Amino acid sequence: MTEKPGIEKDQDERGEPLRVSFLSRRRFLQGAGGGLLAATSLSTMAAAQERLPVDAIGRPDPQMTTEPPIEPERRVGYAVVGLGQYALNQIIPSFAESRSSRLVALVSGNREKAERTADLYGVSHDAIYDYDSYDRIAENDEIEAVYVILPPALHAEYSIRAARAGKHVLCEKPMAMNAEECAAMIQAASEAGRKLMIGYREHYEPHNLEAIRRIREGELGTVRVIQTDTSRPINPDVPADQWRVQRDLAGGGSLFDIGIYGVNGARYLSGEEPVEIRAMTHTPEGDARFGDVEDVVSWQMRFPSGITAMGSSAFSYQANRFSVEGTEASLQMQPATDYYEHNLSIRTQDSVEEVQIDEANQFARQMDHFSEAILNDSEIRSPGEEGMQDVRLMLAIYEAARTGQPVAVDWEYGRPG
Ligand code: NAD
Repeated sequence: MTEKPGIEKDQDERGEPLRVSFLSRRRFLQGAGGGLLAATSLSTMAAAQERLPVDAIGRPDPQMTTEPPIEPERRVGYAVVGLGQYALNQIIPSFAESRSSRLVALVSGNREKAERTADLYGVSHDAIYDYDSYDRIAENDEIEAVYVILPPALHAEYSIRAARAGKHVLCEKPMAMNAEECAAMIQAASEAGRKLMIGYREHYEPHNLEAIRRIREGELGTVRVIQTDTSRPINPDVPADQWRVQRDLAGGGSLFDIGIYGVNGARYLSGEEPVEIRAMTHTPEGDARFGDVEDVVSWQMRFPSGITAMGSSAFSYQANRFSVEGTEASLQMQPATDYYEHNLSIRTQDSVEEVQIDEANQFARQMDHFSEAILNDSEIRSPGEEGMQDVRLMLAIYEAARTGQPVAVDWEYGRPG
């Protein structure tokens, strides 16, 4: 397979040189009190966990420690597959901020760009592969994990080939095009005895973790309603948005690309799995962007405890917010799932708390979580099953919108932990 002409590029959508683009957004690192650069040697991790905050699913969060990174030679070596916008601007630069992950190989259809990236990040040219030579990663023992950052239609194939090459797999969201592909990815990892994680960076982001902690500790009283809106205007003139308006590459429209954050968010904020979904879509006529995929999706989910969640996503405006209404207080996050800056506030009838938490490099933290799961053979917070649940729910949202009928989704998926 070759990459589409015009898709590979060395500048992000705003035309900033990649390195500058990343550095200009790194202000959160200063003054982060080492929270991000924070690390612990694996031998001291268990002791450190005793005094740490809990994570999204209630376990101690090892990445809130202030110990130094582990020795470079013990860090898990990654091959990054696909050198597009997210890989070049967020993920690859974040290896420098990780404590147990290192970049050792690149997979790209564009050799020249791969060599430039390799030179920038100290990767050997011998460890550059293209999509035809990809299976040769099996011969490179430095590669322990593969991070698949391709359009969704390619996630299953490249994840399965990585597992068969004996590598652990971290795959971007949405996990795949349908439940069958997700199941095949889970099976391939299981047969190879390797781990599979989905890139839900917000599961490792401190504001989201704090929101979950406060809700679980009852600060809001009984939660009644959750609202999520995650949207952004799509621009097919930008290479990274070209596949996003093609259903056979993206799997869907705004829902698959960005609405997934709200679907996943409603689940981790409630701590429950939905039992019923209703939905509508709207695609404006005469807008050439939406010949193949939807613009707006709005959905409702009913959860077993009686919580109702309402979500929306769109490709025609900008929004990124979560809110949770409880009998005692209400929680707002805006932005809720951005890359670099988050706001979390809690309101009661007579008070407003703007929660102050250091930003952290969620990209590094998610990679380190995976690396430490590999090194310790420990459980993953966002495994393949978690990605598959969202894919199934998103397809149920489309079905509910298409039929105008509620769709039962009570298939008894249990969240990890
Ligand atoms: P992108 O278009 O910038 O990168 C995709 C890469 O895949 C490019 O290098 C492209 O050349 C390559 N490619 C190989 N075969 C291709 C083909 N047949 N068609 C198109 N591209 C092909 O896109 P991106 O924004 O970097 O997104 C890549 C993945 O990362 C997607 O799954 C996306 O959902 C995910 N992503 C996740 C986040 C997040 O916050 N977790 C953010 C952005 C993107």
